Amino acid sequence: MIPGEKHDTCKLCCKDAQLCKSHIVPEFCYGRIYNEKHQLIEGWFGENGLKKRTIQKGYREHLLCADCEGIISRYEKAYSEYWYGPNGLPEEVNVDHLVLQKADYHKFKLFHLSIIWRISVSKVFSSISLGPYDDAIRKILLNGISVPQGHYPILGCVLTDDEGRFAHNEVSTPLIGRHDGSRCYTLRYAGCDWIFIITDHPTRAQVKLSEAVSTDGKITLLSMHFAKAPIGRHMIEALWQAQKGGKR
Ligand SMILES: [Zn+2]
Repeated sequence: MIPGEKHDTCKLCCKDAQLCKSHIVPEFCYGRIYNEKHQLIEGWFGENGLKKRTIQKGYREHLLCADCEGIISRYEKAYSEYWYGPNGLPEEVNVDHLVLQKADYHKFKLFHLSIIWRISVSKVFSSISLGPYDDAIRKILLNGISVPQGHYPILGCVLTDDEGRFAHNEVSTPLIGRHDGSRCYTLRYAGCDWIFIITDHPTRAQVKLSEAVSTDGKITLLSMHFAKAPIGRHMIEALWQAQKGGKR
C-alpha cells in the first residue's frame, strides 16, 4: 500500500479501492500565495462568530480512488487556470460587481459542485448533507454530465479589502440557509463567498439567480468588502447576538 492510502469504498465511483487522501478544498483556493511562513488561513464558526487559525496544509480525508482523484483534479486544474488566468479575477476591484467572460460553464459549475459535494461526503463537516442531491451530484461529477444553467445556482461575491484590493486569504466552514424552499450553503474560498442553492427543480427566482453563472461563459460576481460579504456579515450578526445574549 502506498503511504497515505487506505482501502475502502470510493465516494465517487462507489467501488472498493485504495483511497487517496483527497483535499476537501484544494490548496489553491486558500489564497494566491501562502503567507510568509507558508501557512494557510482557515476560518470556522464558533458560538462567537468566525474564528481563524493558520494551518500548514489544507484538510484532507480518504475519499477517492486514484481514478476519481484524477477526475476531480481535472475540474480543479481547469478552474485554477481560468480563475488565475487572463480572463479570471483582476488584482483590484473598485466596482460593486464585475463580469468575467470566456469561462467554460460546464467545467466552472462542476468544479464548484465538486467542492460542496466533497464537503457533504466528508466526515469533518457532519452538519452538511445534501441528502438526495449527494447522489445526483456524485453522478454528475463522475460522468461529467452537463448541468442545466437553472440547476444548482451558484452565486459568487468577490471579497475586497479597504483599498479595493482582492482580499483572498482564507477558507471557511459553510453557513446553512434556505432560499425559496431549497437548502443553500455559503462557503468562503478562492477569494469569494460562494452561495450554492441546492435544487434541480428551481423556482422562477432561482432560475433568474442562476444567470450569474451563464452557459455563454459570462460570470457575474458581486464585489464587497470582506466584512460586508455574506460570511463577514454573519460574523458580525453572530457577534452581535453573542453580545446581546451575554455570551463571551
Ligand atoms: Zn473511485
